[in-house]
Amino acid sequence: MILPGSTIGILGGGQLGRMLALAAAPLGYRVHVFTPERDSVAAEVAAEATCAHWSDAEALARFAASCDVITFEFENVPIAPLAPLADRLAPHPRALETAQDRLREKRFAENLGGRPAPFAAVDSPEDLAGAIERIGAPGVLKTCRDGYDGKGQWRITSIRDADAIRVPHVSCVYEGWVGYLAEFSVILVRGSDGEVRFYDSTENRHVEGVLAQSLWPPSPAVAGQVAEARALAARIAEALGYVGVFTCEFFATQAGPVFNEMAPRVHNSGHWTIEGAAVSQFENHVRAICGLPLGDTTTIATRIAMDNLLGEEVARAHECLSDPAAHLHLYGKREAREGRKMGHVTRAWHAK
Ligand code: AMP
Repeated sequence: MILPGSTIGILGGGQLGRMLALAAAPLGYRVHVFTPERDSVAAEVAAEATCAHWSDAEALARFAASCDVITFEFENVPIAPLAPLADRLAPHPRALETAQDRLREKRFAENLGGRPAPFAAVDSPEDLAGAIERIGAPGVLKTCRDGYDGKGQWRITSIRDADAIRVPHVSCVYEGWVGYLAEFSVILVRGSDGEVRFYDSTENRHVEGVLAQSLWPPSPAVAGQVAEARALAARIAEALGYVGVFTCEFFATQAGPVFNEMAPRVHNSGHWTIEGAAVSQFENHVRAICGLPLGDTTTIATRIAMDNLLGEEVARAHECLSDPAAHLHLYGKREAREGRKMGHVTRAWHAK
């Protein structure tokens, strides 16, 4: 057990790290953030921060020496430099390795009985043409690595689009477009003893590939598919020997849940748990990686809506505070670039 008073290292310096650090503080942990970003919003609320590149082995070693356990909030952390830190990493880096590569994660889920959208590996324009012929269009071409929030993705509406797309010189995957009824996620926390607790599943609405809103309770289309999706997420977490909060995203379709992707970390679609669940995803991640008893994941409101604040929306965000149901979270980012996640508002309604 990593006792309160110890130091938790966080690889990555964004808002997920910030909210993890804020949840670690009341449990008596110190947080040390490692990030290549100079304006890290996690570093702002941490006891200590190291600003260095992932390849700076000396800085990583110094960081690791100051930490009792090390976790990550950013899933594109390069794996190789983490090897000397392996004994202190939670969850195990094999979860990162799997989630960092879209082909690998789809195959992993498929091997455990999951059903992803039809997909094919694409390494050349010929591969793309072949994939579209076999799977059909519409579809979407995605880079296998380094994509997030809809980046590194190209919609393909017909085979003619294939000629117009300059297939990037990196491994890609072509996926058939899923005609879904709704999108949802399964968020679970798994302890080092294998105990698993699930959060309720919200229905998630994306705009241009970016999460815009999470709603609970979800529509019946989602509610009826949560059990099957949970079973798969738990099998994946178990196969990875996972410790901490783990997320799987799904499409609810007429034919049941279609696996989209996994995130080996706390997740944007779980931000509502700060006010809407007995113990938040952030606190439960801290509890799990430190070997403390897991917290209650029960939803404590009757209705919840979490809205992301993107780009310039942040300027008027404080206006929501006149609504007694609203809880405002601003991440402290200086530049409100278009589509950038600047904060979120959770509205949680309770029975009168
Ligand atoms: P991803 O980064 O793969 O999670 O994609 C971001 C969002 O784009 C998803 O949450 C969906 O809203 C949409 N999307 C991605 N791939 C597909 C697909 N194969 N079919 C339908 N929608 C998709």
